[in-house]
Amino acid sequence: KKRMRLDKMLSHMGYGTRSEIKKAVKQGKVTLNGKTVKDSGLSIDPEQEDVTWEGERVVYRDVVYLMLNKPQGVISATEDTRDRTVIDLLEPEDQVLQPFPVGRLDKDTEGLLLLTNDGQLAHELLSPRKHVDKTYEARVRGEVNETDRLLFAAGVTLDDGYVTMPAALQVLKVEKAAAMEEPESWIQLTIKEGKFHQVKRMFEAVGKKVTYLRRISMGPLKLDPSLPLGSYRELTDEEVELLR
Ligand code: URA
Repeated sequence: KKRMRLDKMLSHMGYGTRSEIKKAVKQGKVTLNGKTVKDSGLSIDPEQEDVTWEGERVVYRDVVYLMLNKPQGVISATEDTRDRTVIDLLEPEDQVLQPFPVGRLDKDTEGLLLLTNDGQLAHELLSPRKHVDKTYEARVRGEVNETDRLLFAAGVTLDDGYVTMPAALQVLKVEKAAAMEEPESWIQLTIKEGKFHQVKRMFEAVGKKVTYLRRISMGPLKLDPSLPLGSYRELTDEEVELLR
């Protein structure tokens, strides 16, 4: 049987942060099986027990929010005929909740991928009108310079004629190579949109090639540095709240 804290259930259903819920429970706004309760930390079975909020029945849905550190070689889709997908990296108990990736990373891109079965939240994060910031770290062949930074800040024209929105490029370091060899640059780039292969194509637009790519943040959500490649964890309530 599935048990969880009353405050966790209510915060997942969008009734507020844990501290807001604690206060509301103290004020007598919540009932459990017909009786007003005062302890928001009670352990309940959200599928079997009746909860009301200000007299209205709380309908429970089993929502899940997962942060995955995507490795290379897996596809950010729910199904693929040839390759392993990010869903294959999840435990069966999480797979049954049918989470899907919010947006896409290329097969050879690593890093932050949010998976959820909360369609509304996914829709809002992906809405082109919302311009949610996505930050990437990349290794680029050649020396990324101030000209590139200014071009990215102004917008560059991709191979299909699309002009990108202003993007913030920061050069982290340039590794000088041996004589006759090209140096390599490590950069950080924040974009506000998510066109197909956008980061790679932005560098192509300035004549450079991305040789490694990792996403480190999406909106307020940051990749947990303690998550090894290929592993995942549930978002904390605070992280879910930041996304809403
Ligand atoms: N830009 C890319 O080129 N690839 C990704 O996976 C994400 C952003």
